[in-house]
Amino acid sequence: MTTLETESAPRVVIVGGGFGGLAAAKALRQTDARVVLIDRQNHHVFQPLLYQVATSALSPAQIAAPIRGVLQAQRNTTVLLGDVTGVERDGRRVFIDLPDRQGVALEYDYLILATGASHNYFGHDEFARFAPGLKSVADAVSIRNRILRAFEQAEAEEDPTRHGGLLTFVLVGAGPTGVEMAAALAVLVRSLRSEFRRVDPTSARIVLIDMAPRVLGPFAESLSAAARKRLDQLGVEVRLGHSVEHIDADGVIVAGERISSKTVIWTAGVAPSPAGKWLEAPMDRAGRVRVQPDLSVPGHPEIFVIGDTASRDQVGHPLPGVAQVAMQQGRYAGTLIHRRIVGKPAPPPFRYFDKGTMAVVGRGFAVLQTGRLRLSGFLAWLAWAAVHLEFLAQSNLRVSVFVQWMWMYVTGQRGSCLIVNHHAPSSDDSRAAEGASSIPSHDAAPTLETPRPVDAVKRAAR
Ligand SMILES: Cc1cc2nc3c(=O)[nH]c(=O)nc-3n(C[C@H](O)[C@H](O)[C@H](O)COP(=O)(O)OP(=O)(O)OC[C@H]3O[C@@H](n4cnc5c(N)ncnc54)[C@H](O)[C@@H]3O)c2cc1C
Repeated sequence: MTTLETESAPRVVIVGGGFGGLAAAKALRQTDARVVLIDRQNHHVFQPLLYQVATSALSPAQIAAPIRGVLQAQRNTTVLLGDVTGVERDGRRVFIDLPDRQGVALEYDYLILATGASHNYFGHDEFARFAPGLKSVADAVSIRNRILRAFEQAEAEEDPTRHGGLLTFVLVGAGPTGVEMAAALAVLVRSLRSEFRRVDPTSARIVLIDMAPRVLGPFAESLSAAARKRLDQLGVEVRLGHSVEHIDADGVIVAGERISSKTVIWTAGVAPSPAGKWLEAPMDRAGRVRVQPDLSVPGHPEIFVIGDTASRDQVGHPLPGVAQVAMQQGRYAGTLIHRRIVGKPAPPPFRYFDKGTMAVVGRGFAVLQTGRLRLSGFLAWLAWAAVHLEFLAQSNLRVSVFVQWMWMYVTGQRGSCLIVNHHAPSSDDSRAAEGASSIPSHDAAPTLETPRPVDAVKRAAR
């Protein structure tokens, strides 16, 4: 095992360059300390806008920023690309798989774990193959590929009985991500109408499924109802009160009924990172680390866990897994460490200040709740747009996203409808690859019928 060199100034190791980790690093910018931020990706992702990449509204580079670039002006901070695989609490070391070496140890005086969460298939990990989740830029690009490829396949498919499965999109989970994604898909299909000749993209079926009795469970009932009405107007089929029983390559089974679909997207739940297991610390039922009022781990005042991977109650309720919690906790942990290093008294216990919750439901419509205020419609959408622009990591992204949104709002044109194969083959690709061993000879090749434009099909049907 190799060890990365230690320095004389106290070393603060931050694992994770998401909302929590970045906020912690920034809070330490004036501190006489060696700050090392480690992330397995070289970029910070603005997860609330991932669905816009998945539905071709924005491109990946508009919602992600290289961590190194974000922290370039912070001279006391080193950024490492690496995957942390464990923590030795008593030896005060983390273990990292670097691009060229594995199990490298790095000593710390203070440790902040901000490793976020991943998808949760609630005991059905076999669903993951057919129903990808949305957590990273790679996920968003992969989902975009699937959606766009489904339209391409439908355009080339002569057998109309197969169009149904190709143009049915199922979203499992009607929380904010599922609702935002379903509505964005409904907007996408409208914008594709003029580009296809043999299929009508607006005939696509978008099905949103949840076992809960209403969409947007964390919001007030009146806002859930407003979001539901808006989804109905957009043509999204909402199925509530039943969980998905089965998912395979041909679709889903819900309440005993099979819905044929080649594109199923999992937006149902998240599971925390394994930080609790590394630390052998007390965890809640979901596996999040139960932290002290100062966000440290019991018995280890030098280790802090923040964001989606931490568990803390406030006035009897667990803090939600949202960006604001992670950012405020990151800022708090960074400030606390700074004060310890300079010999100042610790700040009072962490308290989350809820600035409100929002979800966007298609073009120009959002729901917003903050304190007693409940708002839905265009004004809420303006507030949503302003807040999301404000929290993007860099000013160039703010300008670029603002211009893109305005352009899209005025012209209806999408940002990025590219099919880019970043990933290993998707299940569709693998099926294609399986079939590749029996490629027919050209003589026996099936012939694609002369394109029959949608208009002609519609005229014939009259
Ligand atoms: C699709 C989607 C939409 C969302 N929409 C909203 C929204 O509208 N509003 C809102 O407030 N919240 C939203 N959230 C939730 C919000 O994004 C999270 O609560 C927030 O990102 C949590 O911040 P974090 O710092 O704990 O984790 P993250 O931001 O997830 O960051 C974790 C970081 O740790 C890194 N990492 C993980 N494990 C390791 C390891 N072993 N080694 C090295 N690096 C590691 C990851 O690469 C990542 O960069 C959304 C989440 C998703 C997935």
